[in-house]
Parts: sequence; C-alpha cells; structure tokens
Amino acid sequence: MALAIELLLDESDALWHESDAELCDGYVAGVRRLVRLQAALAARLAEIDRRRAHEPGHLTTAAFVRDRVGVSGAEAQRLVSEARGLAEHDGLRHAFASAEIDRPRVAMLLHAAGVSPDTFARDEQVLIDTVARLEMSDARRAVDYWRQAADRERFARGVEQLHDRRGLSVSETFGGMIRLDGDLDPESGRLVAAALESLVEPTFLDPTDDRTLRQRRVDALAEICADHLRHGDVPVSGGFRTQVTLSVVPDVLRGEIGEPCELSGLVVTPEAAQRIACDATVTRVVADGGRVLDVGRTTRVVPAAIRRALIARDGGCTHPGCDRPHRWCDAHHITHWADGGSTSLGNLRLLCRRHHRMAHEGSVRRE
Ligand SMILES: [Zn+2]
Ligand SMILES: [Zn+2]
Repeated sequence: MALAIELLLDESDALWHESDAELCDGYVAGVRRLVRLQAALAARLAEIDRRRAHEPGHLTTAAFVRDRVGVSGAEAQRLVSEARGLAEHDGLRHAFASAEIDRPRVAMLLHAAGVSPDTFARDEQVLIDTVARLEMSDARRAVDYWRQAADRERFARGVEQLHDRRGLSVSETFGGMIRLDGDLDPESGRLVAAALESLVEPTFLDPTDDRTLRQRRVDALAEICADHLRHGDVPVSGGFRTQVTLSVVPDVLRGEIGEPCELSGLVVTPEAAQRIACDATVTRVVADGGRVLDVGRTTRVVPAAIRRALIARDGGCTHPGCDRPHRWCDAHHITHWADGGSTSLGNLRLLCRRHHRMAHEGSVRRE
C-alpha cells in the first residue's frame, strides 16, 4: 500500500517529459491504482474494527476515523460500513481490490446486499460482472431491476421508505439568501426536474443569456411559482390568498433610494420593490419609521381586462429577441404607476421575469 502511494506521488514532478499517450495512460493507471488503494484501506479498517484496535482511545471505529483522519462523523460512519460490508462479501472485496469495480459501484452493491441479503449471496458475481461493464446510471437501473425481481415486496417497501423520507426545508441564511434544502422521493423529484428542465433548456438557445445552469434553475423555479400564484388555485391562508405584501415608505416607490422596503418580511431594494409592485396582487402597507400609516386594499395592479388586451397585443415578452410566452410575463409599466403612470395599454408592455428585472434593476444597459 505504501508503495502505491509513493508511485503516485513520485510521478507528479516529471510530467512535462511524458508524451500525450503516456500522460493519458498514466492517468488511467493511476486511477486504477487509487481504487486498489481504497480497497486496501477498507481491508485495513475492517481489521482495525475486527480487533477493536482503536480501543481504548476511541470507543467506536467510526470515532477513531473521525478524530484521527479528520473527516465528518457521517463520512467516518460510511467508511466503517463500507469496510464491514466488504469484509462480509468475498466477491465484492476481490472485485474492488483488483479495481474491477470502483467505489460508487461498491457502495451500490453493498446497499443491494443489505436490502436482499439472501438473493445477493446467490447473485453476487453476476451483479459484479453486470455493474462493472455498465455506465453508472445504467448500472443503477440494472441493480434496481434485480432488486425488484429478487424481492418484490421488499422493493415496494424500499420505494415506500424513500417516499417517507421526503422533506424540504426553506430557511433564510445570514447572507440574505433563501436556502431550499431537501430530499425528494423519486417520483416527485423527476416531476420537479422535468418542470425545471422544460424552462431551462430553451434558454440555452439564446446566445446572449450568460446565466449559469444553477442560476437558470433558480429563475425557472421562481417562474413556475410566480405562474402558480398568478393563475393557480392558490390555497387560502388565514382568509387571504397567499400573496405578496409590500411594505414601503411612500417616497421609496417613487425611486428615492435610501429607505428599506420589505417584501413579505424580506428587505428588498427600491428597484426590486418597484418591479414587484409593477404587476402584482399587492397589499400595500405604507409605513413611516416603523409606524404603519396605511394598509391599502388588496388589489391587482393590472386588472384582468387590461391584461387580456395586453396579451392580445404583445403575445409574449416584448424584449427584442425574447420569445417567452405571456403566461410567464409580467405587465410592466413604462412609467411606473407610483410616478403617475397610468395602467392603460399605452403605458404597459409584457416582459418576462428576466427582462422585467433588467428593466428595473438596470442590467438592460449591459446588453
Ligand atoms: Zn415593471
Ligand atoms: Zn424576455
């Protein structure tokens, strides 16, 4: 094992004089060596665990790994489970030690072994041969098929357990971002992924769109939610339809910078406040120094009839080159209503969320 480490480290100094082929072959060989090294370390950890060599300094093998190696408790637990699993399955251990299968495939098969131990013992070698020659996603599908065939009832229970483990948390971070964090059961997950994909994919046709994939997903999710709030049969909470409450001090909406605005409890810039107030179902709470001066009637800024006429005229986003359909668009006041602009066809144009943001927050000038 020590030799394997030395070989990898020694090579990194002298890469410049290797040919392209040597460089590539050396990389592949190094990865295989790394897999064998991982297998050797797992065997070593299994022996530590079997002898309880970590005592008396550490009560458990995982605590020893966590403290001495410096990994998280969860990672230490994972390493110990892997070592124990490999110790129990000769076929798997040998395939790993000869780099026939890599660590993700080992984890996948150990999981399968845990779910259906008896059938796994019978099919171990067939499964190893199968996952060794398949791409990871195909390998996972093959193991799923095997599990389903091996034990229908248990597989169904497994699916049910995944469903029970679903969860999503929405929290505000110190930096002012909103963090979505969760696990989706496979069915909901695919549904969400497909919905995001349907909005993200077309944006790649626009060469001027320089958002990252992760940014595009956030924008797509926000579009879907905005659409839901605009058109959906939204649940009623406390007697009101879920909606935006915009708290502003009077002058802010007219563009005088310096005063904070709040959007459902979130502090936003005056530009954002103007954009949101541009086309929303708004309950205006006008405050002055924390004192609420006026709670306005809940109104749609752009009445349904005018919106229909606007859709008939504009069709979709009016930003040059943009083809977002009207369903995803806001009605933008060319002169903001807070500045005396009227909510009439002549003063309105449809803009998709991205271009509406550019219109208010000023990035349009960058394009
Ligand atoms: Zn606007
Ligand atoms: Zn647009």
